[in-house]
Amino acid sequence: MNQTFETVGQSRQIERIVSGVETSDGAGVRLTRLMGQELQKRLDPFLMLDSFGSDNPDDYIAGFPDHPHRGFETITYMLAGRMRHRDSAGHEGLLESGGVQWMTAGRGVIHSEIPEQQDGLMEGFQLWLNLPSHKKMIPPWYRDIPGREIPSYVAPDGVAVRVIAGRSNGVSGAVSREDTEPLYLDIDLPGESAFHAILPATHNAFVCVYRGEIEMGGKKLAEKRLAVLSSEGDGAILKAASPARAILVAGRPLNEPIVQYGPFVMNTREEIYQALSDFREGHLAG
Ligand code: FE
Repeated sequence: MNQTFETVGQSRQIERIVSGVETSDGAGVRLTRLMGQELQKRLDPFLMLDSFGSDNPDDYIAGFPDHPHRGFETITYMLAGRMRHRDSAGHEGLLESGGVQWMTAGRGVIHSEIPEQQDGLMEGFQLWLNLPSHKKMIPPWYRDIPGREIPSYVAPDGVAVRVIAGRSNGVSGAVSREDTEPLYLDIDLPGESAFHAILPATHNAFVCVYRGEIEMGGKKLAEKRLAVLSSEGDGAILKAASPARAILVAGRPLNEPIVQYGPFVMNTREEIYQALSDFREGHLAG
């Protein structure tokens, strides 16, 4: 098969670099919140990006015991480690290195995410993707995608690309969503390489580097930093002088009101009160 590769004419630029906030969640898992509530409008339809990475079991061993979600989707990308997932909709799965778990909370799930390792490295990302108002109360959905089933290709310069969501250089990703058309790429850049990703003009986009350093339009983006990309341009050009790895995420904004209270993300305060009351009375899920 002869794959042809798209070339970006004018790259979007780095508009802002964010280093995130060190925090802990669940039963004490240490993580970096690279994107939180202050960027929800700018990066609509994305609500949150957490990165976790530690080889100290104290930082992750307690995991995330039972907790609820309503109104959006969670996408967990495991770079290293093993995590067991169980939820109130009856789904159970083991998320392993290189795999993705895509969960649509919809009208509600209560789930747990518990490490299945006593030691070693645990590393990955959790991204929250919003649902449009008319889909916030859909039934929950869940899929585990093992690493070997994530579509991938090699671009010019030997750049290895995994397509978690959306479509890239003619390769369709593991998951697609019609309302927000999310694109989620994991990009492995060898030294002295450049990668071109065409992005729809409508989409908000960001890049997060997790190994090495990249350059976009003359600006450097270091490891563990997130760059919000400007809206002008037909895509993004990522360059690496030495080996680097990054995720590129883009999506079409919903342009709807966002009201978040912890693990519930709805459009109005009334809907949040409803979620809290449903949770307390035991009928958020099911
Ligand atoms: Fe969760």
